[in-house]
Amino acid sequence: MTLNVERLKMLDVHFSTSIEDRLNSVRGLDKEQGKIPDAIVFPRDEDEVLKVVELALEEHIPLVPRGGGVSSAGGIVMKKGGIMVDMRRMKGIQAGKGEVMVEAGSGYVFNARVYPTLWKHATVGGNFCGGSWGIGSMEYGLNWDQVLEVRMANPRGKMTTLRGGDVKVAAHAEGTTGIVTRLRLMTRESVPIVSKIIMFNGLEEAITFTRKLYEEVPPLYHMVLRSPEIAHLTLGPDKWHLVIAYQKGRDVEIQGEDGKVIWENRDKFFAGAYMENFNYFEYSTYHLPLESFGESLRKASSMGAISEVEFANDFKAHLDFMGTSDVMDKISAMMGKSSFDVNDVFINSRLSRDHIQKIMWYKRAYDKEDLFNPGKVKF
Ligand SMILES: Cc1cc2nc3c(=O)[nH]c(=O)nc-3n(C[C@H](O)[C@H](O)[C@H](O)COP(=O)(O)OP(=O)(O)OC[C@H]3O[C@@H](n4cnc5c(N)ncnc54)[C@H](O)[C@@H]3O)c2cc1C
Repeated sequence: MTLNVERLKMLDVHFSTSIEDRLNSVRGLDKEQGKIPDAIVFPRDEDEVLKVVELALEEHIPLVPRGGGVSSAGGIVMKKGGIMVDMRRMKGIQAGKGEVMVEAGSGYVFNARVYPTLWKHATVGGNFCGGSWGIGSMEYGLNWDQVLEVRMANPRGKMTTLRGGDVKVAAHAEGTTGIVTRLRLMTRESVPIVSKIIMFNGLEEAITFTRKLYEEVPPLYHMVLRSPEIAHLTLGPDKWHLVIAYQKGRDVEIQGEDGKVIWENRDKFFAGAYMENFNYFEYSTYHLPLESFGESLRKASSMGAISEVEFANDFKAHLDFMGTSDVMDKISAMMGKSSFDVNDVFINSRLSRDHIQKIMWYKRAYDKEDLFNPGKVKF
């Protein structure tokens, strides 16, 4: 259906139909170009979100929510056009003891346990709905495991609250099950982070050291193995190096150089480097068992990939590769299908079976028309 702009005006919710705003709203870190929206709305509170949802349901118009627009797996690609719901005016925040209540459009202006490399651009809602692992995952795990409660405008036009395991209905669902308005999250204590850099003479030494260190289960907050090439693009030594970070006071006796400067610039790690070089490079991600990641890293490096490996609490290495399209074609042929495919617009390619089943069940029950970020769930 075509959007009736006169009806949109009657909602009394700030919106734009200018071609410039519509084009800007879909400009992000996706290679795929979708449609441009008929309009962008900028709700300020839940009531305004609900008004937009009601209009969309009555007029059969697709809705795509967005935060900072820096997810890269097709999250804000509009398959069918419709209304883009820009959540960035909803950025209220209320701190509690060990937790925080944030509106979905808030940035990372509190002591988050887990947050994305691009936190300076991202919103909390956008990361919850489009992200997964991040900085802090070595200690705390997935971003949605930090979420106690989610409030969401669902595809029947009602506000609903998800708690416990049910938050997965909205986590990494890319807005296909509703528009998240508010989240209650556990926070990290206000303890300084100490960072160190361990440098290696070559990749073999780096792999052996990193595996051994991980198996000792040190109380680290974050751990990332970086190649000399990624350091060339941003910051870091001209050698394979491991950056570790831990909360001050933890029992960590790992020798290394002071990592203060590199930690302060962690927004320039892989995702930051990719953003800077978006026009030249493609990227892919693979989550591999600790025992076997070295082999793939070796091969990918010899093919010319620019690599970085993040570690989380899942006993897997999260390998990120970046390069020109011919290099990435070789990597893809060598690696096969990724269990976390950032180049597939369907969220199915990045979620565990139980997680995607929850989303599919909810979508079947509540969004039969597939109006909420259409074309992102494969049935
Ligand atoms: C190279 C690279 C590597 C990356 N690595 C990681 C990583 O390791 N871990 C990680 O978590 N992220 C990663 N990201 C993705 C991204 O940076 C983050 O997930 C970021 O937090 C997205 O936030 P955003 O506000 O920009 O979301 P957006 O891009 O605006 O939105 C993300 C998705 O969520 C939906 N959405 C947004 N707001 C809402 C809402 N209020 N309600 C419902 N749906 C909503 C959107 O429709 C979209 O589908 C990476 C990105 C790049 C480019």
